[in-house]
Amino acid sequence: MSEFQISPNAKPIAADLRAAMLQDPGFGRVFTDHMVVIEWNEAKGWHDARVEARGPLSIDPACAVLHYAQEIFEGLKAYRVPSGDVVLFRPDANARRFNESAERMAMPSLPEDTFVEALEQLIRIDRDWIPEGEGSLYLRPFMFGSETFLGVKPSAEYKFIVIASSVGAYFKGGKPGISVWLSEHYTRAARGGTGAAKCGGNYASSLIAQKEAIGHGCDQVVFLDAVEQRWVEELGGMNTFFVMDDGSLVTPPLGGTILPGITRDSLLTLARAGGITVREERYAIDQWLEDARSGRLREAFACGTAAVITPIVEVRGQTHNFTIGNGGPGIETMRLRDALTAIQRGTAPDPHGWVRPVR
Ligand SMILES: *Cc1c(COP(=O)(O)O)cnc(C)c1O
Repeated sequence: MSEFQISPNAKPIAADLRAAMLQDPGFGRVFTDHMVVIEWNEAKGWHDARVEARGPLSIDPACAVLHYAQEIFEGLKAYRVPSGDVVLFRPDANARRFNESAERMAMPSLPEDTFVEALEQLIRIDRDWIPEGEGSLYLRPFMFGSETFLGVKPSAEYKFIVIASSVGAYFKGGKPGISVWLSEHYTRAARGGTGAAKCGGNYASSLIAQKEAIGHGCDQVVFLDAVEQRWVEELGGMNTFFVMDDGSLVTPPLGGTILPGITRDSLLTLARAGGITVREERYAIDQWLEDARSGRLREAFACGTAAVITPIVEVRGQTHNFTIGNGGPGIETMRLRDALTAIQRGTAPDPHGWVRPVR
């Protein structure tokens, strides 16, 4: 594919306003000055790669994605590290997963190096948008079917876009832990479905359960498997881990219905390297309740790029109501979080080669 055409924003946000916006950016509200766009069609493949001013898209009302939701996305962060560099965490893993999602959704694959180059282009031009301290730049690559056609088939045209958002802490108020609502009616994914693909449709179908969770005073929803309604799978957008009283870690196995989180994978690697016994095995909701009561379960947490690791301190549902540990963040949870964030933020060595400087 040809070079990226770079057209800087003629009216970037002034430095003093940007500084004010970065004071307390929250999550997903503050956006940078630019975006990357690459087009695909059957004749040309990927073409017209460009960096341009971030702004509204103009699409036809018959645009395929608006009707049949052929859309996938990724999420990863760029951090400012003590050396002064800006780094990405495992962007190659996001590139690979993006193509796995694309395949499931009958979309074209994007060369992995083009995916990473697109991220780097945007970071280079918008690096002043990376907040100091706790914050980071959240990158959101996505692709959608952009053909103007109402026929039901894979779109013949696509747009790949990357936008970036300056972010602070994900859960507002820096809550020490979250409560989860056990969805006993809705499921997230079934065998043969799209549970392992990072597609907007999965989120669309999870929103009613998330709404139910909020309605019951909980922070997030936790889903069980669709067949037996028994095995814990994941939250709407985060994987789950359990810390047992012998120090071992348990997480549900990937099997097509769980999103293969890069945070999940990184924690498994870190834990194994640190001599912790890790088991990828199914964990039943009744077992969770029993283990929380008996003390066999010490801690539970959710993980994903946006929040890194968040302790799960309470589970609630129609028939299940229990607290985990002492109802606060667990020691092992915080140890794992510190170990991972130290690598991401360049304050600890990177033995697995996960951190990639953007120059
Ligand atoms: C993105 C996502 C995760 C977490 O993946 P990370 O790569 O760790 O950010 C977990 N579950 C779902 C449903 C997701 O969409």
